[in-house]
Amino acid sequence: MNPSTLDLNPPPVADPGSPVLTEPLDGAVVRADFPILAHEQNGQRLVYLDSAASSQRPNAVLDAMRRYETHSHANVHRGVHRLAAEATDLYERARTRVAAFLGTDDRREVVFTSGTTAAINLVAGSWGQDQLGPGDVILVTPMEHHSNLVPWQLLSRRTGSELRAIPLLPDGTLDLDALPTVLDDRVRFVTMAHVSNTLGVTNPVAEVVAAAHAVGAKVLLDAAQSVPHGPVDVRGLDVDFLAFSGHKMLGPTGIGVLWARHELLEAMPPWQGGGEMIRRVTMEGSTWNDAPYRFEAGTPPIAQAVGLAAAVDYMQGLGMDRIATHHRLLAGDAARRLDALPGLRLLGPAADAAREGVVSFTVDGLHAHDLATILDARGIAVRAGHHCTMPLHDHLGVAASTRASFAVYNTLEDIDDLVEGVKHAQAMFGLNA
Ligand code: PMP
Repeated sequence: MNPSTLDLNPPPVADPGSPVLTEPLDGAVVRADFPILAHEQNGQRLVYLDSAASSQRPNAVLDAMRRYETHSHANVHRGVHRLAAEATDLYERARTRVAAFLGTDDRREVVFTSGTTAAINLVAGSWGQDQLGPGDVILVTPMEHHSNLVPWQLLSRRTGSELRAIPLLPDGTLDLDALPTVLDDRVRFVTMAHVSNTLGVTNPVAEVVAAAHAVGAKVLLDAAQSVPHGPVDVRGLDVDFLAFSGHKMLGPTGIGVLWARHELLEAMPPWQGGGEMIRRVTMEGSTWNDAPYRFEAGTPPIAQAVGLAAAVDYMQGLGMDRIATHHRLLAGDAARRLDALPGLRLLGPAADAAREGVVSFTVDGLHAHDLATILDARGIAVRAGHHCTMPLHDHLGVAASTRASFAVYNTLEDIDDLVEGVKHAQAMFGLNA
């Protein structure tokens, strides 16, 4: 930002304003459940619009983790004493809870990892390393978060398999019509985001899964940005693997989930070696524990699993359908009002397209980092940069964008503040005269 160009008393600009919308969730009431939001930021009410990077945690999650740490902590699975049994019970109950949340009653299908990135690397390091070789094709999309792209680049180099991408349309969404040009019977594995962390759009999972399964390929869905925004049913989606993180869905950092069909997990070799993942160890070699324990080497994130289960309870208490409607309404309102500002360009489809709680944009003449800095001074937290989607930004021809993302504690008032903040920044740079 060049201070000499700043106008500290910008003139007021007309704004189309919000139509009368009714929020499905009472954001103000929900907000009171999140203690961090009571703290001012730069002397202002905190408007937290960076939940796609990491969401905040309600008291229910913080309390559950504190209760675990102060009353029940021990290592799991190995001890015979009361605390070890209690910790094991809580950890395994968290697994059952997550399985039900994903629409399955088979708790053996839930592997706890440290996050989405670790879950994806697990699939690459186990299934991928075991199954793929020269001549095989891994199909990705150019809109992936780097954590669902780089592990496949590494795997393709290690195994000699080929990495291909489903083409994108000019607006950055998937070109489904081009799928047959890249999906042939050499494709063994297809992976894509359920919801784009930059565009906020939902990908056409049913069509891609049907086409992939028709050639015998397995499908992994990166659900890091869909699980926080509405109901996700692994059986209905008919995917083979699904990955997500606790910290984007009101839960703690340090925990994530790999869901996979049990037969698939059982047929996969271990990824990391250590305690817990073995059945028997001799100096000559080892045999493996059953899934999911085969994939949970070492002491797992126990308090985090307890926190994740509490986050699931909290979200389901609010209602997953209501959460979905709330996030869509906020993102839709933000997209429409931002789109009406001069020089502002939304990334992705038109403003009236459904966006799952995520809106990214550029502003002519204003770098994303400058805009985010000006917004921060007003207590508004947004993301600026490439959001770990460099190939998508390259495709769209922009180096960086600003991203506002929404969670259950956001309100239409937050969008008023965001729009006013962007207008203020434009005025400071003399851009909306
Ligand atoms: N995939 C998507 C779509 C994401 O948005 C993110 C986080 N921004 C990740 C993967 C990686 O998640 P984590 O850093 O929690 O492993």
